[in-house]
Amino acid sequence: MASPARGVADVPALVERVRAGDPRAVGRLISLVEQESSLMREASALLAPYSGGAHVIGITGAPGVGKSTSTSALVSELRRRDARVGVLAIDPTSPFSGGALLGDRIRMQVHSTDPDVFVRSMATRGQLGGLSLATPQALRVLDAAGFDVVIVETVGVGQSEIEIAGLADTTVVLLAPGMGDGVQAAKAGILEIGDVYAVNKADRDGAREVRRDLRTMLAPSSRPPQAWKPKILLTVASTSEGVDELADAVEAHHSWLDANGELTRRRVRRARDEIEAIALTALRFRLADEPGGQRLADLADSVVARERDPYSAADVLLEAVMSQKL
Ligand code: GDP
Repeated sequence: MASPARGVADVPALVERVRAGDPRAVGRLISLVEQESSLMREASALLAPYSGGAHVIGITGAPGVGKSTSTSALVSELRRRDARVGVLAIDPTSPFSGGALLGDRIRMQVHSTDPDVFVRSMATRGQLGGLSLATPQALRVLDAAGFDVVIVETVGVGQSEIEIAGLADTTVVLLAPGMGDGVQAAKAGILEIGDVYAVNKADRDGAREVRRDLRTMLAPSSRPPQAWKPKILLTVASTSEGVDELADAVEAHHSWLDANGELTRRRVRRARDEIEAIALTALRFRLADEPGGQRLADLADSVVARERDPYSAADVLLEAVMSQKL
């Protein structure tokens, strides 16, 4: 790993190389994101003017539903359409980068010799801020590197699918028959986040039933007429069947977003979430470091000693931060 001193000197050069699409520079900058390096502040400022061009596609679904197979097949289809594609495979359940997603990497190997495809695994558990802090920064790196499409693939567990929907322009929710998670059992959350639903493993029994259930559950009740109508597709990712329709659907959604001003609205929302995540993380660091740590410890003592209640203790802490005393 480079020493911080070398890194500081390197950031503008690194950003230049990222902009030229140098995959090693892209990888290095994403590593800085993962390490929560303070250099990202400088890098982020240098990258900002060059971002906003990529179509960000989120792919989520339960483990084993076929996310990495679908991602790989979609990358192939998008390459046929001449798009340069970046992939971030995020594992919110693992604190280990790379290793935990070895399977994904192996499946993505068909793209490893293609200079117009960049694949990176990231583990976000244990990171301060988790998915919400590291992923947008990594996205910005890929965006500034000139990828036309960036796919963010993540396991649908806990909050992660909701978070991914916040990060993506277009969210693809993957389901599959016979996974014990028919639509009925699937968390209601997925019905709110999908722009495109792919019922994968359509070569297996039950796929049409899953699609039928989805259609019923997504039936427009109070949706305004101009709203996007989520598309529901059948795919067999392992043979790429239906993947061209999947690519058509995500492109159609992107065009719809653009034509309706929704792309900007989603990006404003995303920027707001990102600013908030950065600010909250900075606040946490401030509170954890001295003198914040000491102040917090003193306040905790006073709460335990029943001299204060936790709300008023939090007020004291926030006031100290806002008046720059911490
Ligand atoms: P992930 O955990 O969601 O990323 O799922 P994977 O892409 O790793 O796929 C899980 C398993 O399902 C693998 O063994 C795949 O080969 C298999 N698989 C993926 N797509 C299909 C499909 O369309 N049909 C069938 N029969 N198997 C599939």
